Amino acid sequence: MGRKAIIAANWKMHKTQHDALQFVQKLNYLLRPADFERVEIPICGPFTVLRTLQTVFDADKLHFRLGAQDVFWEEKGAYTGAISGPMLAALAVDFVIVGHSERRAIFGDTDKTVRKKIETVFKNGMTPIMCCGETEAEREAGETAAKVTRQVQAGVAGLSAEQVGQMVIAYEPIWAIGTGKTATPEDAQETCGLIRKVVAAAAGDTAAAALRVQYGGSVKPGNVEMIMAQPDIDGALVGGASLDPKDFSMILTGW
Ligand code: 13P
Repeated sequence: MGRKAIIAANWKMHKTQHDALQFVQKLNYLLRPADFERVEIPICGPFTVLRTLQTVFDADKLHFRLGAQDVFWEEKGAYTGAISGPMLAALAVDFVIVGHSERRAIFGDTDKTVRKKIETVFKNGMTPIMCCGETEAEREAGETAAKVTRQVQAGVAGLSAEQVGQMVIAYEPIWAIGTGKTATPEDAQETCGLIRKVVAAAAGDTAAAALRVQYGGSVKPGNVEMIMAQPDIDGALVGGASLDPKDFSMILTGW
């Protein structure tokens, strides 16, 4: 069975409830039913818009998927400011981004805590989108493959082959995030192919063949086609260009 394309919006710390509502209504208007058959479209908003999105997806029968941008691994307790897996599952969240480079760099996520979050996501019936990727210095030092291999191995360690096959792994070179610089399609393919090989070694060929790999980092309407043409790239994780419904619709349909 072929892998269904998955192009996700990561809004990061953008959009109020009002903005979120307007966005999905506009985006839905710009898409045709066939677009949703061809590509799965998680909208990963900040926690404060999830309830609004859930309600409008349900009421208006919109075929977007609901995504969160992080989760904490404990179910409940004295963890001021944290959001748990059961809380997200109760809002019908489908996907949770885990280990985004901004969470690793600014909020202290590590390979170990990322792995715990992945466990929580599965335990609550949701799908993790696990991010990995190298800094510019690491790329220049020739450490891309080693860094990504380490992150992916840590992320899938101890999961069942079935779970690994359901995962989404996003390769996001940190130097390409929000900079307008994109990895060349060949470089992106090379690392996404490596991710699939690492997963095959850890969880078997069936899991590796089912796993969906996204590229993220300055994906725009003008470069999505070349990125999506790569054999090991099944989708994109889009930041800046997912904030505007027109731009994002052109990414969703432009390949
Ligand atoms: P940009 O698309 O703004 O480069 O962000 C990429 C990203 O970090 C998505 O998670």
